Amino acid sequence: MNTISTDIRTVTTPCGDITYTFQHKKVKNINLRVKHDGNVFVSAPKRVPAKAADEFVISRSSMIQQAITSFAARELIKERQKNLSDGKTFILGEEYTIKTMADRREYAEKTDGFIIIHMKDTNDSARKISIYNTWLKAFTEEVFLYVMHDVHSKFIPLGIDFPELKIRSMTARWGSCHTYKKMIVLNRRMIEAPLNCISHVVTHEFCHFIHPDHSAKFYTLLDKMCPTWREDKKLLESLVIL
Ligand SMILES: [Zn+2]
Repeated sequence: MNTISTDIRTVTTPCGDITYTFQHKKVKNINLRVKHDGNVFVSAPKRVPAKAADEFVISRSSMIQQAITSFAARELIKERQKNLSDGKTFILGEEYTIKTMADRREYAEKTDGFIIIHMKDTNDSARKISIYNTWLKAFTEEVFLYVMHDVHSKFIPLGIDFPELKIRSMTARWGSCHTYKKMIVLNRRMIEAPLNCISHVVTHEFCHFIHPDHSAKFYTLLDKMCPTWREDKKLLESLVIL
């Protein structure tokens, strides 16, 4: 192997302490890697002293912390997907266990801590998912419409009409606003997060009816309409990983 020496080092950075493995290798430049388990590796040619590696890590601390956070977030979603196969799900920020119950009429209902799927054949897992998804779709629409009306009431004095709501599966955004169509599109996955998380996205999109850009004026309006939007956004991004 071309590793000459290995050293575990910890540096204090503006983004918190970072521990990393420093290796002198037969390489040309300083290389930095954040592995999927969150471990940080720096390799450098022999002429680069450990102190220079520390400085290199400090200079890239925000990128390193971001990578560690996003790997941790991916672990969280994996865990949640496993939970769903174990019969667990998150709705409005609360954990629910999915239970089946033999019944002649097929439907789902949400009770304290449980989503109960009433179904004829409780061993039919495909049918179970289908009943659950039908229920979740209707529930999501009901909640999103409730939030839309709540937020809209603050925009009526600004002359904004109630827009059309479209709910979609999206992988890159929480919502979008189509001013010319008078339409707001919301990401269905937001139903997993608490109401305030959904509300800040809806408020953001409503603000676009006034300012279609992300200008300073847009953020002034958003701050006024939803003063907690920064915390709401942080919480949403930590709970629901797209
Ligand atoms: Zn926007």
